Amino acid sequence: MFDAEKIWTSTQLPTLPGVAIRLLELSKNPETEISEIVELVKTDPAICGRILKSTNSSFFGFTSQITSIDKAVPLLGTTVVTSLALSFSLASDSVNTGPLQPYYRAYWKQSIIHAVAGETVGSKCAKGLECEFFLAGMLMDIGRLALLKAVPRDYFPALMTAESQERELVDTEREFLGLDHAYVSTRLMESWGLPDALMKGVRLQHADEETLLNELDPQKDMLAAAMVLSNAVGDYYLSSVSGLALKRARFLADRFFNMDEAAVDTFLEGLNGRIEEAGDLFSVDMSDIGDPGDLMAQANQQLFQLTMKSQLANQQLSEEQKRIREEKERLESQNLELQKKATRDPLTGIYNRAYFDEAVAEAIHVACDRCLPFGVIFADIDKFKVLNDTYGHQFGDEVLKRAAALIARNLRSTDILARYGGEEFVILVSNPTEKGIEKLAERIRAALEAGEFYCGATPVPVTASFGAAITLPGRIDNNYAERVIQQADEAMYDSKKNGRNQVHVRSMFSDEDRRLIKAINQGKLSRWLVNKEVMDIPTISRALLQVAPDNRPIGEIAVELGLMLPEHIDTVLEKQEQSKKRFGEIAVELGYLKPEQLVQVIAWQVEPPDRLISAISKCGYFPVERGRLLLGEYLETTSVKTTCKIV
Ligand code: GH3
Ligand code: MG
Ligand code: MG
Repeated sequence: MFDAEKIWTSTQLPTLPGVAIRLLELSKNPETEISEIVELVKTDPAICGRILKSTNSSFFGFTSQITSIDKAVPLLGTTVVTSLALSFSLASDSVNTGPLQPYYRAYWKQSIIHAVAGETVGSKCAKGLECEFFLAGMLMDIGRLALLKAVPRDYFPALMTAESQERELVDTEREFLGLDHAYVSTRLMESWGLPDALMKGVRLQHADEETLLNELDPQKDMLAAAMVLSNAVGDYYLSSVSGLALKRARFLADRFFNMDEAAVDTFLEGLNGRIEEAGDLFSVDMSDIGDPGDLMAQANQQLFQLTMKSQLANQQLSEEQKRIREEKERLESQNLELQKKATRDPLTGIYNRAYFDEAVAEAIHVACDRCLPFGVIFADIDKFKVLNDTYGHQFGDEVLKRAAALIARNLRSTDILARYGGEEFVILVSNPTEKGIEKLAERIRAALEAGEFYCGATPVPVTASFGAAITLPGRIDNNYAERVIQQADEAMYDSKKNGRNQVHVRSMFSDEDRRLIKAINQGKLSRWLVNKEVMDIPTISRALLQVAPDNRPIGEIAVELGLMLPEHIDTVLEKQEQSKKRFGEIAVELGYLKPEQLVQVIAWQVEPPDRLISAISKCGYFPVERGRLLLGEYLETTSVKTTCKIV
């Protein structure tokens, strides 16, 4: 890995002679007298000579011959003199005849183009400061010179690769050195104490469009923007990607200098003459930079090809996206189909046995958490074999389909109906009562009996035998589901044995379960309202249809009702890990809740009183104010000390 310290410790790093540094300092001070500058320049004969020579060059275009530095300095002005002194110092520092010579030349050519482009932009947007813009362009790539001089061996592969693979130099610099010349330029300029505005341009010269728009203020950062534009102009002239450079130059000129495409073209075409003059000034041969017309034609051709390429790529991309989208839709619908196949019975369209088994496992879990009963109803069509034998298998299929539809019509949306086997159906009933599940099974039985099945014109009586089981699950027990289903199945056989077309129910409630369920029911607000004869059962039942249970765990509700402390929850959960007991049971055992408080919390969970009062007033049975009073009265009778919000 390349060690950047090698750059900073190199003795070959470009340096500024004392005169140039002093000039920089003086030029920063508005009090500086021109005579001081003259005196200082005179101390360095080399700089002195070159300034005088350039004053008489076509670059400045003075008509009469200037023969002394005392005349030249006031004529050029402090900034111009300082800039020239700085540039000359660098130029004299960079003669090379070795294998790197072409790269030195390339650096100088690019710097001169940067300088002229900067000067020309400056003449449009910052009259009088053109020379500063020139210098900024000139210094922008000083990092390249530094790398060439300080670490030539390490730099060479980056230069070679950029050239042979037609890649951007900054790219290969980062790849081979882990840094780029813009960074090296900034560091050097910092060490020379050059102004921040200049360093901003250096830092952003390769930034993307979005960054430039974010970081450059068209009013305040004119110099930096001109430098970024100059950099694009340099690439336009010298790089292999002149099309992209032209595009970037157009973008920058438009955003920061209000120049349209035609203005940019004119600007570029007008640079050649000035570039050659500047080349003369620094003794760099710029005669091979190409004819402006040819350059523009070549860049436009490249740009055209790039646009075509990207359009083609976009088109291919959108075709590819379309293909991917279609494939995704196909897979999704296939997936849905497979899922349906996996969970549904193909003949009747109701759930299959696999789905039912999963649903029962989930139901046990929920019922256990909430301390709610759940039940299973088994139905087996009577003498189905005979029916098949008499009317044909196809008719048998039709009977199965209609029977499934008939059963489904008699269920609530929360109940789950599945085909368990050939002519066996099974129903998962959530939160039933012993009486309720029997009534439900009886209703379905009667509906089937009254079903009016016909084979052609012949009426065919169809009946089924029913068995139901109801339970209040304890903590999860692996065989619990099987046991409940088996109980329902056995109850169904009781019906068969007893003459078919009837219902048998097996309750798995213990006396304790029954007491608990009874207590919970008595603790409910609905029961309290009925007992107080505020409402009758049918009315409150209608309101109850709109009341969803509170989905939070018991512990959380108990804490909210002020019956349990938050830290007790964790203790109960820890204990629960080791036992098969319910949360409430453990909370009572540990003395965190009294039995009557547990009952109250469960009643609250199954039937949240605030929701019930809201539902009742929404149905228009009585106004909210009355509801609030009644709720207050009800809460008085419970151990709950809380104020309820009615929404
Ligand atoms: P029971 O009253 O004791 O239940 O008598 P059953 O004839 O209904 O009972 P059994 O178990 O002896 O016969 C069930 C019949 O159901 C046998 C089988 O051919 C038929 N069966 C199973 N699946 C299908 C099906 O998908 N379509 C048709 N048409 N018949 C089926
Ligand atoms: Mg059977
Ligand atoms: Mg049967």
